[in-house]
Amino acid sequence: MRVSVIDKNKREKVCIVCEQEKAEGIFLFGHFLCVDCHQAIVQTNTDDPNYAFYVQQLRKMMTSKIYS
Ligand SMILES: [Zn+2]
Repeated sequence: MRVSVIDKNKREKVCIVCEQEKAEGIFLFGHFLCVDCHQAIVQTNTDDPNYAFYVQQLRKMMTSKIYS
């Protein structure tokens, strides 16, 4: 069965934070983080309610790495 170049290069690009498939992003600890969420995390103030959500999602990512 032939495997196309596109299939070979395809990586799992589902963002750990927003859980959506995105074309652009970075891999952190083996998990994908889309540019939108990366920007959001960088720009979110620590006392912003959204910050707790991002931290929680990132913690989930790091925890899953430990046990994988
Ligand atoms: Zn995202």
